[in-house]
Amino acid sequence: MVLRRVSVAGRRVLHMEASPAPRTASLSPSRAADFMQCPLLYRFRVIDRLPEEPSPAATRGTVVHAVLERVFDAPAGQRTARRARAMVVQEWERLLARRPELAALFADEPAEPSAGAAAPADGADASAAAPEGGPVAGVGAGPEAAARLARWLTDAEELVERWFTLEDPTRLEPAEREMWVETKLDSGLRLRGVIDRVDIAPTGEVRIVDYKTGKAPRPEYAGDALFQMTFYALVVWRLKGVLPRRLQLVYLGSGDVRHYDPVEEDLRAVERKLLALWEAIREATETGDWRPRRTKLCGWCSYRSICPEFGGTPPPYPLLVQDTLPLVDAGAPAAPGAGRPSADASADGGRQAPDGA
Ligand code: SF4
Repeated sequence: MVLRRVSVAGRRVLHMEASPAPRTASLSPSRAADFMQCPLLYRFRVIDRLPEEPSPAATRGTVVHAVLERVFDAPAGQRTARRARAMVVQEWERLLARRPELAALFADEPAEPSAGAAAPADGADASAAAPEGGPVAGVGAGPEAAARLARWLTDAEELVERWFTLEDPTRLEPAEREMWVETKLDSGLRLRGVIDRVDIAPTGEVRIVDYKTGKAPRPEYAGDALFQMTFYALVVWRLKGVLPRRLQLVYLGSGDVRHYDPVEEDLRAVERKLLALWEAIREATETGDWRPRRTKLCGWCSYRSICPEFGGTPPPYPLLVQDTLPLVDAGAPAAPGAGRPSADASADGGRQAPDGA
């Protein structure tokens, strides 16, 4: 293995080169979507594991998801919008304690404003919107930084409050929240991911719920979200032997709820699609041919500076190109010297990918 320094998003990072071939075979919905969006994006995230700058929009999504998970910790009668709104600051401070670098999002010289960041309300005095109870963690670099954070928190609070107009948590008792799922298909491919919420009716019917902090897409762009949901439905079906009755997408940005009731053939079709996708990923891994695919989503990509579509040069391909690439169980012992990076597509960007984009 050789370590080199490369520049990504204005940062110099160490980059491993010439590691052995990938030894695992797993996919998450996020990484599958990455490959479908742009194979080169998948390579940068999964093979090279290049760091990405956090964005205000994605960080807000992380905070909102945390609130919607924890709101169910309280007894049903106490799950109010007012209480949930107050939890936004708590969850932000909790996140900031784990990831202090996020404070830079609101610093006087922000690294990069989010393309999806909401503008302040017309005529609003953002500094006046600071939550009650004194200074909030992350504020302190100056009044402009404080105002940016206050606007961002207000946006998050409004998303949380809107959820109460779409669902009634006093009438819900989720079976699972932020549920980690993983299953292995007959082919050896592992599917894994985190489901926001699982509801089980007294009759045993299963509903899978996913929160999106963005707006509901137009019907012609709804395929990505549906793919993610059918992915989770397939995993639950394979794991539990129960076909989820309903897949529910809750779009907090626009206040929409979309439903889809899958049938077995839908899930078999998504399984075939995933296997074909994995074959394409294996082929790209083997040949090193990760082609960029320029779309309007490039606006959210952290790797534009090293992308050929934008005049950049990717770092050297970090894997040894091989003639054959066996599909190996993730639990199998690695070859001598094997290690990261690998083509294990489960490495998930968490909430840092702007959902609803
Ligand atoms: S900028 Fe666009 S084309 Fe380039 S790697 Fe990112 S998503 Fe792919």
